[in-house]
Amino acid sequence: MQTDAMALGGFTLMNKKLFDWLAYGFKTFVLRKESPYLFGMVITDKCNLNCFYCESKNSGRYHFKYEEARKALHDAFMRGHRSLYFTGGEPMIWEDRGHELNELVRFARDIGFLDVFIFTNGTVPLSIEQCNYIVTIDGPKTVHNLIRNNSYDLVLKNVENAVTRAVFCSITFSKSNASYLDQFVKEVSATKLFRGISFNLLTHWPEVVKEYGLPPNEREERLDRLWELRKAGYPIVLSWCRLAH
Ligand code: SF4
Repeated sequence: MQTDAMALGGFTLMNKKLFDWLAYGFKTFVLRKESPYLFGMVITDKCNLNCFYCESKNSGRYHFKYEEARKALHDAFMRGHRSLYFTGGEPMIWEDRGHELNELVRFARDIGFLDVFIFTNGTVPLSIEQCNYIVTIDGPKTVHNLIRNNSYDLVLKNVENAVTRAVFCSITFSKSNASYLDQFVKEVSATKLFRGISFNLLTHWPEVVKEYGLPPNEREERLDRLWELRKAGYPIVLSWCRLAH
């Protein structure tokens, strides 16, 4: 049952969000002062999967210590960032001497971040509260399983049991899955487990993009098709830039 205090807490948070967005809009659009909003933290490059196109996993280059992570979050907040995402590697498996990601999410919310997102491959239970999840899926079940070690059923089970319904999914287009776009969107939408579907293109490593990425004309085609699917009612998340197209 919702208590008055909880209702008041929700109301206050909504007001705070609204106030922060208005203040940010005023600073950016009226005063024309550039101000950072979104802060991304690669908390670790450790990962429990082995996607063929991924050059960043388990390189041993990134792994925050707990205190470093807290300081980075605090500094980002002081610079004006209000929205935060954790990525990796697989951020849900990050730990440092007994500290786990849920502590950093709680810390970020306590100091005032308004939104916290976690990019995850979904193979670990989505049990952290006070955040949104963006679960990466690499195509319809058969394609995803080929790329991501037969994890499709496990991922959907974890999404179904997530502590929040604020779960989005995201697909990274490569030569191996781009032709399954329609099948992917229809299959994932039919689960009714995701609030929205977003998309990425392979962009990180030039040699990987050259070998596995889509050529520019095919990228355009896929984006046009996404736009059509969105107009047909599928929950595609596109940028305002694209919406104005
Ligand atoms: S799940 Fe993400 S970090 Fe892990 S191997 Fe795949 S692309 Fe790389």
